[in-house]
Amino acid sequence: MRILIIEDERRSREFLARGLAENGFVADTAEDGQAGLYLAEDRHYDLVVLDVMLPVMDGWSVLRAMRAKGIETPVLFLTARDTVPDRVKGLELGADDYLVKPFAWAEFLARLRTLLRRGPARQAEVIRLADLELDLPRMKARRGGKVIDLTAKEFQLLSLLARRAGDVLSRTLLAEQVWDMNFSTDSNAVDVALGRLRRKVDEGFSSRLIHTVRGLGYVMEDRGHGHD
Ligand code: CA
Repeated sequence: MRILIIEDERRSREFLARGLAENGFVADTAEDGQAGLYLAEDRHYDLVVLDVMLPVMDGWSVLRAMRAKGIETPVLFLTARDTVPDRVKGLELGADDYLVKPFAWAEFLARLRTLLRRGPARQAEVIRLADLELDLPRMKARRGGKVIDLTAKEFQLLSLLARRAGDVLSRTLLAEQVWDMNFSTDSNAVDVALGRLRRKVDEGFSSRLIHTVRGLGYVMEDRGHGHD
């Protein structure tokens, strides 16, 4: 489980990161709202712990930007201001829970575990792109109504590409997110996996959905017929 902590106060940030690590979580940290948003966009997190008062970009704006970009990661808000209007505002923006500072570690951990059990509330169950259909809960892929036989890793790779359709995803990002490891840049493991996936998804169809962007990575999009 990977948690992102966006908190400008150093002692609080380090306390949370250390506590999470001791409880078996992987914790990344950001010191301001913008740096936090970059991380939330770039990597997959199971939960974001988000302070309200932050430099550069406040917690409200980070949450709004995340939801606008379709990032539905559960968010636990940390706020020093225990007022009703703040709570209402945060919930309207899509925060999943609140914790008012100062809080006890046990309380934080309990809230965090509840949110992690619940998972992203509004995540799409089925992704569609052209005639491709991904059934996420069942891990089934169909194209033109026909089942595509994929390994678990291939399904993960395909759903990542499909979720971020139109975005060019680098080999490094794919390696980190799907295999949870860093491939050296000259490794062709990602290319080999992508090649295999492309054959399964695109071969025999008039339009290709997975495209290579030379020197950058891969993008999934429907460009109509006859183009690569
Ligand atoms: Ca703060």
